[in-house]
Amino acid sequence: MNAAQQTPPAGDRFDVIVVGAGVSGLAAARLLARAGKRVVVIEARERIGGRLHTEREGGRVTDIGGSWIHGIEGSAVHAAAAAFGMPMVEFTVGSYQAGGRPIAYYGVDGARLDGAEAAGFIADVAAFDERLTEVIAASAPATSYAAAIDAALATQAWDPARAERVREFARHRSEEQYGADAEDLDAHGLDDDAIDGDEVVFPEGYDRLPLRLAEGLDVRLERAATRVRWSDTGVEVDVVRVRPGAESSARREPADSGAPAEPTTLTADRAVITVPVGVLRAGDLAIDPALPEPVAGALERLEMNAFEKVFLRFPEKFWDDGVYAIRRQGEAASWWHSWYDLTPLHGTPTLLTFAAGSCAKETRDWSDERISASVMAALREIFGDRIPDPDHVRVTRWQDDPYARGSYAYMTVGSVPEDHERLATPIGGSGAGDAVLHLAGEATWQEDPATVTAALLSGHRAAERILGEPIPIERLWA
Ligand SMILES: Cc1cc2nc3c(=O)[nH]c(=O)nc-3n(C[C@H](O)[C@H](O)[C@H](O)COP(=O)(O)OP(=O)(O)OC[C@H]3O[C@@H](n4cnc5c(N)ncnc54)[C@H](O)[C@@H]3O)c2cc1C
Repeated sequence: MNAAQQTPPAGDRFDVIVVGAGVSGLAAARLLARAGKRVVVIEARERIGGRLHTEREGGRVTDIGGSWIHGIEGSAVHAAAAAFGMPMVEFTVGSYQAGGRPIAYYGVDGARLDGAEAAGFIADVAAFDERLTEVIAASAPATSYAAAIDAALATQAWDPARAERVREFARHRSEEQYGADAEDLDAHGLDDDAIDGDEVVFPEGYDRLPLRLAEGLDVRLERAATRVRWSDTGVEVDVVRVRPGAESSARREPADSGAPAEPTTLTADRAVITVPVGVLRAGDLAIDPALPEPVAGALERLEMNAFEKVFLRFPEKFWDDGVYAIRRQGEAASWWHSWYDLTPLHGTPTLLTFAAGSCAKETRDWSDERISASVMAALREIFGDRIPDPDHVRVTRWQDDPYARGSYAYMTVGSVPEDHERLATPIGGSGAGDAVLHLAGEATWQEDPATVTAALLSGHRAAERILGEPIPIERLWA
């Protein structure tokens, strides 16, 4: 399927222009098109899917963006994936849990914790989490997650070393879940982190979801929207051609990557803007007149994170069978502490680790080789010097991606969970019913932000608002 080759409708006037062919934009466009609207989707990349992107190389299938459904119970993404016939494999550690699934813990000295030691640590985290929830509920506005961690630990009569193991675990959770150091994340930044049911990943790639959602749509690839002008009666979107490969060119502005830049103006009654908040905050897509409150304030308080995946494929396996993850404790593991065993998924011995928060920022300009050497030094502290080097390393560079500018948004200190919903406040027109401008995307969904679920449901919400009626979510895959 090449959605870009669909024949566009005559003329450049549409009912709805959707900017961005990620899951949110495609979900909105699909529902609107199915309701009979003339819809065009403008996408800057040479592919659809946005932050869902599967690489297929040498028989390897690698999801370099999103890969997990964090809890399949009641999940619309799971229902869609099942309806689209996407194979799934259970892998329930994507949510930085301490227990529940087999995890091999290695202590401060690099030796593996025995069963009793690991169980004790897991029980400590569970006890701490109960207190943390209470502390966060009672916290003053603009409390950081780090301060909440310290306050919750202060209620436990633990010796310093025991408290420190739990503190570092909670701090790593902030980094791995939100790509932000605990000092930078609001105390409420993980409020919606609970998962319902097992987690799953996609051995044949998560990109099947956007590919299926895009079927039959008029998606125009390699077109960057540079300006959206809106009034109470409609929208105009300026679009420039983008040179193929621009997305992999570090820190290139979309407007500079068009060759030649021939702005075309598309007009429509409404627009759904799904570009990541990093793109909006950077001004790469100008909104004219500027976004009003409460949208502008919410955008100010949500920020793109620093979160990269590091895949290491080895000639042989040197870690234990039957463990989902390897975790190292202690100061030495402040950067590289968790490795996820993707071997069952890929067939080749593969570990996935993350550069997150300050680690991702500090290693941003490092070569893949230097990052790999740093990760290997950490692994050798656990497994000894004789383990092999990886024969293939893949490091993602979402921070340098001009159409993402990070992996997903997090709540800066002083933001509130409602900022996600505020970002989607309908704009223009005489009320929500005939608003002309709708923001959608992962950062606009409060209940489970920063996920594919959030993207899908926010696209559904935008379509409902434009159509002015409830739409069964099943219409996306039925
Ligand atoms: C490394 C990583 C790991 C993740 N892990 C998970 C996970 O395990 N589970 C999970 O649920 N979620 C995960 N996520 C988050 C998930 O991938 C995203 O929340 C979701 O894919 C976002 O969809 P979206 O439609 O909101 O945005 P996007 O997918 O970013 O779509 C927006 C689209 O807009 C396009 N665009 C940008 N600027 C312009 C412009 N000027 N003109 C035209 N088009 C433009 C972009 O190219 C993009 O295609 C992860 C993300 C990353 C990066």
